[in-house]
Formats: sequence, C-alpha cells, structure tokens
Amino acid sequence: MSSGIRFDRVSVAYGGTTVLDSLDLTVEPGEVMALLGPSGSGKTTALRAVAGFVRPVSGRVFLGGRDVTDEPPYRRGVGMVVQQYALFPHLRVEDNVAFGLKARKAARSEIRGRVAEALEMTGMADYARRRPRELSGGQQQRVAIARALAIRPSVLLLDEPLSALDAQLRSGMLAELTRLHRELPDASILYVTHDQVEALTLADRIAVMDKARLQDVGTPQELYRAPRTEFTASFVGNANLLPVTVGSGGVVLGGAELEVDTGDAARGASATLCVRPHLVGLGPGPNQVVGTVSEVQWRGATHRLYVDVDGHRVMADLRELREPPVHGEAVTLHFAPEDAVLLAAGVTDA
Ligand code: ADP
Repeated sequence: MSSGIRFDRVSVAYGGTTVLDSLDLTVEPGEVMALLGPSGSGKTTALRAVAGFVRPVSGRVFLGGRDVTDEPPYRRGVGMVVQQYALFPHLRVEDNVAFGLKARKAARSEIRGRVAEALEMTGMADYARRRPRELSGGQQQRVAIARALAIRPSVLLLDEPLSALDAQLRSGMLAELTRLHRELPDASILYVTHDQVEALTLADRIAVMDKARLQDVGTPQELYRAPRTEFTASFVGNANLLPVTVGSGGVVLGGAELEVDTGDAARGASATLCVRPHLVGLGPGPNQVVGTVSEVQWRGATHRLYVDVDGHRVMADLRELREPPVHGEAVTLHFAPEDAVLLAAGVTDA
C-alpha cells in the first residue's frame, strides 16, 4: 500500500461549531509532519479525520492517492498511537501487539513474525510475556507503538504520544522515535503535539495550527528563520515582535531607523519586526537601538536581558557575559539586518 496523506479542504464541525476549517495539507511518503498548536486548535480532530473516527462535513481525505473519506477506520491501514497507551490490561504484551493482526485475520505464522519484529523495533522483545501493569509508563508506550507498527501501516498517526511521560523519559523516547522513523523510510507520519521541542526535533515539516486553521507550514528551519505570521514566530521559538513603520530601505522603530529587507511592503505601512533574542547583540553595531535594562535573568549558558526601548520590551539572550549590565542601566543593542524578518500586519488573521 502506498503512503502519503492529503487533506483536501477538510472541515469538521461539532454541533454547528467548526473545529477544523478547510484544512489543505499534504504529507509526502516517508515524511514526518508535526501538527503543532495550542490546545483546542483542531490537531487531534485532523488526525481523527485521517483515521476515520470523525467524518468531515466537507472536503476529502486521501491516503496513498486513494480517497478514503467514506471508508471505515479498519479499511484505511493506518496505525495510531494516542497519549494514554490504551493497552488491554488483561493481555500480555505480545497479545496486545498481535491485536490488530488478529482482527485482520492474519495467519498465525505471520502474526508471530510481525509481533517479534515490532517488539524488536521498539526494544521490547524481552517483555513479550509481561502484562501492561508490570511495565513502566515508557515501556507501555513502546508497546502501544509496537502495536501500531505490527500492521505495517503506511501511515502512522501519533497523538501526543509522549505527553504522559516524565521529562527524562520523554527525551529518551524522542531519540527512539527518530530512530524508528529511519527504520520506516516509506511511512508517512503525522505527529500531533503542542510541544515545539518535539516538533523541531522530529519533524521534516511542521504545520502550525491555531483556532481551527492552518497558520503556516514549512521545515523547522524555515518556520524559525522566516515565520510568516506573528503566531508562528512566537509559537516556534522565542521572538521579539516589534511594531515598526516601513521606511525606505528599512523600518522605523521609535526614533531609530533600521536596515532590514522590507520585501514588497508599502512605505508608511505598519508592520511587525521579528528578531530572535539570541541574535541580538550587546553594544554598538549595525541596527543599534538604545534602551534601559528592566530585568536580567541568569539562565546558565546565557543571560536573558529585558530592555525597554521606546516603550517596547526587547529580549536579548547573551552568551559569555562576564559583567552583565544591571537593572536601570542604559545599554545599546544591535542586530544584523539579515537576522530580522518583517511580518506584514494583518497576516495573523489570514
Ligand atoms: P487539539 O488536538 O488541538 O487540542 P481538538 O482537535 O482535540 O484540539 O479539539 C478542537 C476543538 O473541538 C476543541 O474546542 C474541542 O473542545 C472540540 N471537540 C473535540 N472533540 C469533540 C467532540 N467529540 N465533541 C464536541 N467538541 C469536540
């Protein structure tokens, strides 16, 4: 079965309220796409539309080029892992993993082989005879992943699979999921998360969701370096979002004229300048502004400075700062023209 997921203007509503609004999105074969957004933005709903657990009010869902919108879940050939493992407590690990294959009436010998393979891939081969209660949370989630893999899905759906685990387990499992992806080079993986670190670590591309709509889609680097909207800029990484006026060859922030690429923004227009805190330098330089330090936070590897510039708060993350400025001190900040991105006003409402 060939992979690939395509949402073609998919809308979902509950009781008249649209919770997924005309989603257009394609996940290529072999690609990991993260659906990233705050709680309630429609991510899980999108995933459930692919699995077949929710029916769109309009639009079509395609898997491997085939329109599956009217097909029941069991005919779609997708594997799904949800936050709360949902293992059968009375079944041994191997029987939990075999469940989907038995439901599909696979031959015994085939079941045995596939279960062994899935347990091997998730590092759970030694636990085949245990019951879920005899496993840790992380191990249970691996069994849930093994169960999804056993049917050799061409499409794997993961719904916040790590959010029930503690922080240390989570980073270990993240590394394992990356490895797993290498072992499934042809599968399309759709990964729902509200955690930008998970999305940045795992995804080939990230689809940013907010208020039932797709806000932005791109590689992690694209979204980080050149976000299209203020929402993306602040949700993927930290951002200084400064209100500016477009001038000639740059922008005006308070009293300062700054050189940045203004693209085709009209002169005199209001816009937002996005500069990442770690790209702001202390002291004179290109695009310098002066301000007053309102707060200094020591964060181990960096100092985070909050500086009031003409009534706007600018954050600067500085490394190797021997003598950090103090509260109330006047400082000069600067940033390179190529490190700023101009966001047109109104794009957030797209
Ligand atoms: P996310 O995964 O981004 O947190 P969801 O897709 O789960 O968001 O939910 C989107 C919106 O749809 C939320 O406002 C949620 O309350 C609502 N919703 C989800 N499932 C149902 C349901 N079965 N019945 C009614 N409303 C629902």
